Amino acid sequence: MLKQSPNDSKQYQAITLNNGLRVLLIHNDESTKSAAALAVNVGHFNDPSDRQGLAHFLEHMLFLGTKTYPDGSEYQKFINQHGGNHNAWTGTEHTCFFFDISATHFLSALERFSEFFIAPLLADDFVVKERENIDAEFTLKLKDDIRRLYDVHKDTINPKHPFSQFSVGNLDTLADRDGQNISQELQAFFQKYYRADYMTLALEGPQNLKELKHIAEQLFSLIPSADSPLPDIDEPLYLPEHQNIKIDVCPVKNDHQLIISFAMESIDQYYLDKPESILAYLLGHEGKGSILSSLKKQQWALALTAGSGINGSNFKDFNISIALTELGEKHLNEVVDIVLAYIALLNNTDIAEYLSLIHI
Ligand SMILES: [Zn+2]
Repeated sequence: MLKQSPNDSKQYQAITLNNGLRVLLIHNDESTKSAAALAVNVGHFNDPSDRQGLAHFLEHMLFLGTKTYPDGSEYQKFINQHGGNHNAWTGTEHTCFFFDISATHFLSALERFSEFFIAPLLADDFVVKERENIDAEFTLKLKDDIRRLYDVHKDTINPKHPFSQFSVGNLDTLADRDGQNISQELQAFFQKYYRADYMTLALEGPQNLKELKHIAEQLFSLIPSADSPLPDIDEPLYLPEHQNIKIDVCPVKNDHQLIISFAMESIDQYYLDKPESILAYLLGHEGKGSILSSLKKQQWALALTAGSGINGSNFKDFNISIALTELGEKHLNEVVDIVLAYIALLNNTDIAEYLSLIHI
């Protein structure tokens, strides 16, 4: 049973189709629009090591023509013509596709959308054109400080962990090579990973639950099931030589930032309690007695955030990011000392009961 707020007037039903696809149906009679999202538990971590960017490339290619709708621009036109939006993203371990549209056109849109996961064409002429678009996406970000920092991170961890792989792809990593045609590799990746039991689907709209269920069964039951579960990641993100180190990064912009990063195991199993939110609240606090207030008193920092950082099925970074002043940059060790002194204080104090009630 789903836990539901008394203020939430929607109706929910979770079902699993015969092929293993888990579906959440949401009846929302206050909306004139309908929406769908399909997530696959596959991302750039699944890229073959000699084909970095393949998962992302496939995400782009699925929009570009299917067996019944071979015209590569038809889906986008259809969604736009009927008041909708669509997009997709490829992450480390997930890829997600989603759209919304006027409710009267939901079924027709889903007829197009569901075929991405059943019969995509992955046609050669689109492969060539779309590879250029991927390369443009890569080039556009070359001067982006956040991306550059991300790449430094990838270069300073265990090279056997999939996080170290390049995720976006470009003309080089996705090139056709002797005996290795990229179209065939896209097809093979699709066959291996786009399986019903690796996916979840959500459908929401003013349609009633019975109708939504019927649509899900009718259009998504043809996605084939997998033979075996996805493998776990068994390599640690960091080896001892990647910890206890200081890394200096020269930014493109004039940005003075200190990031103190703590490596943790995965914390997904604690999602109901969210202990890291309490730590983020305490470390990120800006009032009297906080880390930031004492840094500001010395004119060493402008802002501080705590608790961000990458996370995945076997890792979580807990970051404390401090926007330094020029003066603060000259006092790096003292800034770190203040942060560590505060952590030592937390270690020696019971966390107050009322803090466990905070929801951030
Ligand atoms: Zn993209």
